Amino acid sequence: SAKKTHRGHVALHNAAIQNAYLNKIKLKDKLKAALKSNLLTVYYQPIVDVQRRKIVKFEALVRWFDDEQGMISPGTFIPIAEEFGLIHLIGQFVLEKACQDLKEMHLHGYEDVSISINRSVNEFKTSNDQFKLVTQAISSAEVPFDKVTLEVTESMATNRYTWELLSKLREQGVKIALDDFCTGYSSLSHLIENQVDYLKIDKSFVDSLMADKNKKVMINCLLNLADELGIKVIAEGVESQSQLAMLEQLGCNHIQGFYYSPAQPLSASLRLLQEFNSGQVFNDELIYISK
Ligand code: C2E
Ligand code: MG
Ligand code: MG
Ligand code: MG
Repeated sequence: SAKKTHRGHVALHNAAIQNAYLNKIKLKDKLKAALKSNLLTVYYQPIVDVQRRKIVKFEALVRWFDDEQGMISPGTFIPIAEEFGLIHLIGQFVLEKACQDLKEMHLHGYEDVSISINRSVNEFKTSNDQFKLVTQAISSAEVPFDKVTLEVTESMATNRYTWELLSKLREQGVKIALDDFCTGYSSLSHLIENQVDYLKIDKSFVDSLMADKNKKVMINCLLNLADELGIKVIAEGVESQSQLAMLEQLGCNHIQGFYYSPAQPLSASLRLLQEFNSGQVFNDELIYISK
């Protein structure tokens, strides 16, 4: 009967939810174990100042290599870490490692290079340890405060407490980037009120730029506004020469994406600096040099 079919459908639906939940719990336990056994590491993706033809910054991106599953994407495990209260552990690990690795880059002679570190909303929610944790990590790595950027998303911008904390860090010299800008609902008032140093245009927007005239108009306005406000704009997820050319033409000078390089370990990043920033590889052609 219809009733029976309906009941069967509900049962199937419940089973699917239960299954998803169990998988989540499994992954959470695995993540806990991985954190204990130091299976997480940090990779670095260069951000290039196109005009100056230099890597000016690296974004620190957490990596988890699992024996069975291979690389598990942060897009998968960061939300789980947030849900189950593990994000503080990951955040602290990445923060310390990134600051230490930045020191390493500076010791190799690339003292102008800075690091950009992602922060999750839950890391700022409750206490003001964040101020202490961030300033301590930077101090103990002995890198200048103004060479460290924290990337936050717009959803965090609605929390007044978070912004108080960020502005306290900013007073110490730490830079703030608004990540994933132009996804969903973007508010210009965040930019004007909250005083950020960088704006990161999300890959999805970069992807739509070529085909959509209105998006070009919009990004043009945004670049002008950012310029007026003294904010630097970084385009994320740039994969092709034509995207790069378009962004350059629009006046977006800071580029991050596979066109240049994916995120790589510190050793490879140091090699990248050596080749790229010394001008050896860089002639008129912009070259993909990650290999
Ligand atoms: P995000 O902060 O927006 O980082 C940029 C993401 O885009 C990275 O993915 C990067 O590998 C990817 N990407 C960069 N250029 C290209 C490109 O040209 N093509 C394509 N297809 N992708 C590109 P990833 O490393 O998988 O990280 C995903 C997200 O996970 C990050 O997005 C960030 O929200 C979060 N995440 C990563 N590491 C951390 C961390 O240490 N802490 C926190 N809280 N979140 C992190
Ligand atoms: Mg980011
Ligand atoms: Mg981003
Ligand atoms: Mg993004």
